[in-house]
Amino acid sequence: MLDSPFKEATAVLERIEQNGHEAYFVGGCVRDHLLDRKIRDVDIATSATPQFVQNIFDKVIPVGIEHGTVIVRHLDTSYEVTTFRIDGTYSDSRHPDHVAFINKIDKDLERRDFTINAMAMNKQGQIIDLYHGREDLNKRIIRTVGDGYERFKEDPLRMVRAVRFASQLGFTLDIETKNQIRSLNKEINTVAVERIAVEMEKFFAGDYISEAMKELKTTELFNNLPVFKYQPSLINLLPAEQTPLHSLAEMFAFFHFLYPQISVNTWIKEWKASNQSKRNTIKLVEAVTEFRNNGLENWIVYQLPSDLYAGFIRVLTALSEHAIPTLQEMRTIVSGLPIENRQELEIDGNDLIKLFPDVTKGPWMQKLLNQVEYLVVMRKLTNKKEKIREWLKWNPPEVN
Ligand code: ATP
Ligand code: MG
Repeated sequence: MLDSPFKEATAVLERIEQNGHEAYFVGGCVRDHLLDRKIRDVDIATSATPQFVQNIFDKVIPVGIEHGTVIVRHLDTSYEVTTFRIDGTYSDSRHPDHVAFINKIDKDLERRDFTINAMAMNKQGQIIDLYHGREDLNKRIIRTVGDGYERFKEDPLRMVRAVRFASQLGFTLDIETKNQIRSLNKEINTVAVERIAVEMEKFFAGDYISEAMKELKTTELFNNLPVFKYQPSLINLLPAEQTPLHSLAEMFAFFHFLYPQISVNTWIKEWKASNQSKRNTIKLVEAVTEFRNNGLENWIVYQLPSDLYAGFIRVLTALSEHAIPTLQEMRTIVSGLPIENRQELEIDGNDLIKLFPDVTKGPWMQKLLNQVEYLVVMRKLTNKKEKIREWLKWNPPEVN
């Protein structure tokens, strides 16, 4: 019997099989299982149609019926269950224009991008490996299923996916695959930027980013990506050997400081950054600006979400700043802060209204609260109602 997480997922395969259809684990989960890596999502491929799958399970979310995918919930886990399919053309560079459902897994594996991603496994743990995926896993090589030239033309995003897997797995690109990417790199421009950003986020998060960065450069994919395609020389500003940056936000912040002519907003817009990535970029840029002006003080660690501390240090490292703080130093400062957030201030908007009853409510309130918050965090004002009231008396709202 297979171990977790396949053990729990086996019930899903069995239910489908009991209803007369084939079902397998496929793609990334099989690859990561064979590599003994942590498995993230268990994806399932089946000969049953989405409608059929919906009928035989109680908890189903129809996320992409037209592409054959439904999510089955089993024991509080979600499984993407996708009907065996062959893809049509990708004219919108997002999804194939049409897909055809089929009843054999062979063709379904054939449409997949890389040999290491094109394996299936049944509930006994037997592997279906029609494209020598295991061999490539052993050789630590990323190679397309079929003719790379055709496969990259069909969906140029696969070129970015190739370097993304290189970064995550520490694999190298097969020499032909690499040459094919080199000859088609410009095609990446036809792909929706959001899709590229998703892959690049994973690329940056990979353990082998420095090696993979070399592949991104030598295939000249890098200088065809948003912003870089107008300013290819930017790439040379990245440290050559090691790439300390680990997310798109860190990269945007880094380049913005090295080359301020390109605004933060331009990076965010051109890359159609996700809200998360946008927020992180802005926070990092604020923190680095503050650091350059005043060094590491309370306000920086107070303002910066703690999940960005490491990223902040990495951006400073990439920028070769002086006196770069350690994570430990930042944690020590944060644990000694007078307040953790604005809610902990001993005064609020209501107190301001009481103190200045004659002044009509307005933006001055936010402004004053901001000032008080800053002073309290910086230990220039004690977080006591009396003390703050006293300060406010001497610093009344400026209203005209
Ligand atoms: P991860 O663990 O990072 O999610 P993954 O291999 O599961 O890696 P996904 O992007 O989730 O990657 O895709 C799931 C599977 O779908 C892949 O393993 C591959 O077989 C197939 N696939 C995904 N995108 C493409 C694509 N653009 N072209 C061909 N096959 C693809
Ligand atoms: Mg996946």
